[in-house]
Amino acid sequence: MTPKILDAVIVGTGFAGLCSAIKLKQAGKSFQVIEKDSGVGGVWRANTYPGAQCDVQSHLYSFSFEPKPDWSRTYGLQHEILEYLEHCAEKYGIYPHTLFNCAVTRAEWKENLNVWEVETDQGDVFHAKTFFLASGGLSQISMPDIKGLEKFKGNLFHSARWDHSVSLSGKKVGVIGSAASAIQIVPAIAPLVKHLTVFQRTPSWIIPKDDHPYSEVEKTLFKFFPFLQNLSREIIYWQLEWRAMAFVYAPFIMNLFQEHVKRHIRSSIQDPELVKKVTPNYTIGCKRILLSNDFYSAIQRPNVTIETTGIAEIDEKGILLKDGSRVDLDVIVTATGFKVAEGLVPFEIKGRNGLTLSEAWKNGPEAYLGTTIKGFPNMFMIVGPNTGLGHSSMVYMIEAQVHYAMKAIEYMDRHRVFSIEVKPNVQDSYNLQLQEKLSKTVWNTGGCSSWYKLPSGKNTTLWPGFTFEFKNLLSKFNSQDYIGDRRLKYTEVTEEELAKA
Ligand code: NAP
Repeated sequence: MTPKILDAVIVGTGFAGLCSAIKLKQAGKSFQVIEKDSGVGGVWRANTYPGAQCDVQSHLYSFSFEPKPDWSRTYGLQHEILEYLEHCAEKYGIYPHTLFNCAVTRAEWKENLNVWEVETDQGDVFHAKTFFLASGGLSQISMPDIKGLEKFKGNLFHSARWDHSVSLSGKKVGVIGSAASAIQIVPAIAPLVKHLTVFQRTPSWIIPKDDHPYSEVEKTLFKFFPFLQNLSREIIYWQLEWRAMAFVYAPFIMNLFQEHVKRHIRSSIQDPELVKKVTPNYTIGCKRILLSNDFYSAIQRPNVTIETTGIAEIDEKGILLKDGSRVDLDVIVTATGFKVAEGLVPFEIKGRNGLTLSEAWKNGPEAYLGTTIKGFPNMFMIVGPNTGLGHSSMVYMIEAQVHYAMKAIEYMDRHRVFSIEVKPNVQDSYNLQLQEKLSKTVWNTGGCSSWYKLPSGKNTTLWPGFTFEFKNLLSKFNSQDYIGDRRLKYTEVTEEELAKA
């Protein structure tokens, strides 16, 4: 009997997983999507904290093939982005292909059969010619390593696991962290709570944003004259794109910009002591530049304190500081981010010769074009190593990667090649060049530590260049970069062979 071998198994249903599924469906491929959560959305389902909003304009932070003319405002709110992704899943018929509340426990390349075997915690086993790893860079939460954290008797939760059953009204709340998530949470909860203490270890560079609701007239124009929305997208794209120049090619530009932002801080905050506390001492751009119009006003409320004395430990009642003082709290929110640079995948992935991804990545994650990995044939990682951005929309990068994966599949179909694996020397020299370029960027020279980098300083997350350069590199599949295998036809594989493999 011939077993059912799918064209692809996809893990995850954020922008990356959905884009992969939509493109495979449009190409007439068979596929299974596996999602650990109860619905589509990825980070946009997980991050429901008060104030959650995208920091890239929605006309750009959406699929090029699925414009939404009626975004309510320039920068989409979490619920609206989630609704958009649900709409995409519905419109492109992805729901019937998706298993929810189902986590992948193991993915293994079956060498002799040229198939991926993917197992879930529900006991399903799928076999597929290709494996799309789209489980997301910001899905593994990072809890702070603070002594006594588990002793706290009040409510304690991470920003990406917000506990909506806990009312904050009239409570003493502490937020640990002062980066992208925290600066959105603080203005949203400050008016509700009795007192809010923000435990800041390192201040963030924060700039204002031009965020406004779209009028009904604008939305109608975008709906009936789609070229206007395309134009808006193009304008946003190029406004953001030039910033790559300062991040990558001429970091000295950041010093000029930094003076301008310092003036913004001084004009936004009355108290010089507070100005000092929130002004970073590293080059702007080294960590993610944050956007907010209300963080500085929120921290000047009488019920908000920015606490910069380091945290010594946590006990039953609150946080003890390094100077011996303490802050009693009812609720602690850890807005402490995600484990990204380590490239952690929450299940075992075994490639050729039983090599696991964690073994392959023992010195840090590496891929070719952020998408394919030596030793892992027919696997496409969407939002893989060094595809992240400090200046523009990840959706643009995701579309470029999925396009590349589809070109690879087209190549395999056309030439009856049953597996492709990036040549080790191709991946190695690509990464050498990448790291050489990264060493000159503001992320590596700006005097900060960040989730972009491993403790060794190696930047495993960001793309050092313009996004159009990335798209150009991935616009066609170059078979010379790959080892192709023509050994076997899938139809020859039997259930018995699969069971024995
Ligand atoms: P993050 O950028 O990693 O920031 C974590 C914060 O927690 C930092 O301020 C960090 O301080 C602090 N922290 C970590 N461990 C600590 C400890 N033990 N004690 C005290 N402070 C500690 O995490 P995030 O704010 O969740 O953002 C992560 C990424 O998610 C962003 O860069 C962005 O890509 C994405 N994001 C996007 C949006 C948006 O689109 N608007 C919103 C939220 C998040 P140090 O700086 O000293 O390490």
